[in-house]
Amino acid sequence: MGYSAWLECFDEKCKAQYDLTEVIYNCRECGSLLQVVHDRDELIKTSANQWIRTFEERKRKNSWPYGSGVWKMKEWVMPRVENENIVSMFEGESNLFWAERLGKEIGVPDLWIKLCGNSHTGSFKDLGMTVLVSMVKQIIAEGGDIRAVACASTGDTSAALSAYCAAAGLNSVVFLPRNKISPEQLIQPISNGSLVLALDTDFDGCMKIVQEVTNDNTIYLANSKNSLRIEGQKTVSIEIAQQFDWNAPDVIVIPGGNLGNISAIGKGFLLMEHVGIISKRPKIVCAQAQNANPLYKHYKSGWNDFEPVAAKSTLASAIQIGDPVSLKKAVTILKKFDGVVEQASEQELAAACARGDRTGMYTCPHTGVALAALFKMVDRGEIKKSDKVVVISTAHGLKFSQFKIDYHQNNLRDIISEHANEPKIIPANLDDVKKALDEHLKN
Ligand SMILES: *Cc1c(COP(=O)(O)O)cnc(C)c1O
Ligand SMILES: [Zn+2]
Repeated sequence: MGYSAWLECFDEKCKAQYDLTEVIYNCRECGSLLQVVHDRDELIKTSANQWIRTFEERKRKNSWPYGSGVWKMKEWVMPRVENENIVSMFEGESNLFWAERLGKEIGVPDLWIKLCGNSHTGSFKDLGMTVLVSMVKQIIAEGGDIRAVACASTGDTSAALSAYCAAAGLNSVVFLPRNKISPEQLIQPISNGSLVLALDTDFDGCMKIVQEVTNDNTIYLANSKNSLRIEGQKTVSIEIAQQFDWNAPDVIVIPGGNLGNISAIGKGFLLMEHVGIISKRPKIVCAQAQNANPLYKHYKSGWNDFEPVAAKSTLASAIQIGDPVSLKKAVTILKKFDGVVEQASEQELAAACARGDRTGMYTCPHTGVALAALFKMVDRGEIKKSDKVVVISTAHGLKFSQFKIDYHQNNLRDIISEHANEPKIIPANLDDVKKALDEHLKN
């Protein structure tokens, strides 16, 4: 088993290499982002069919650590970590379900939702965090001096970091924009024992400070600038292919903020292509909130000049990011996957959530952004009736209950709650109940 991987500068002209256990986030030569590169020649010594058999055999079993949706692909993800240092709560293997009713409503009957929020801390961030925290444990086991792991967060990264650090017995520090995350997201790191620092700024402001703090190499940075997380998150595309009997769908729609996830999903498809498991690439659609849409503007300019934006407040708080860290990686991926960027207004995302929920989902606002983008592209004929479409649902709706309560009470500022469903308050007697039934159950 000579599987190996290393960190490599993302700049084509530089390509400087570093060991995976180095505490480094940007290239020392040129300052660019880093990426994890695998020894691809070694990986193709095993046939596509053999890889498929291995992953199928390990799926959902309890043998450590391969029962995890991430670690069942350990050779493709992070062979450098020894099994005894892996910190896993058997994340991944989330369900991919056929959204039959919503699909029929919009005229795309082959519509599927990948519920990445059905996970340990309620978002896809668990997939990357298991890899990052495992590597921290590996570094410490090899004598490295790391006092704590830290991140700036729009709520879900901190929840995942806290949980995985707590499971491993490591210290964690989370920097959160005060009053800009949901109560559920705030209570997660508090419960898991993190040092929680609520700052009077936005995500971009928290990010600046955590970068300064982590210049001290004993505090390890867990933001998606740290490319280890991408390796875990890329398993989403491999899992989707597995759930479709090792085929890629035609279109994937993903909400994007810092743009790590879209980079990860593309990376997973490219690796499957290299190994010979798939031969067709899906079209990748990145969906942004109109209030935080730097990638959308960049796309509309024909990928010409990129300008960060000052992100305005959005219900899709996890993607309220004006200066995405993984921009270059995301653009590279979108160019390879016939990529499109679409945006959704607050009204559109709230309505899309409500519409999805009316067909049995319980969507978070980011998934609403993705659904709204899908609806627009279907209306314009850019997604066809015959396409097999997967929408990546990034978090569990239960993390965003206040948003749903406000929506159904028609309490969201500047939003008309066209699908509001308020409870009817009626006296406790049979006549009134029967009257209410007759009134509301007519078709
Ligand atoms: C982090 C997050 C996103 C955005 O992912 P990026 O990798 O930053 O683009 C979207 N939705 C939810 C729920 C998230 O937590
Ligand atoms: Zn470099």
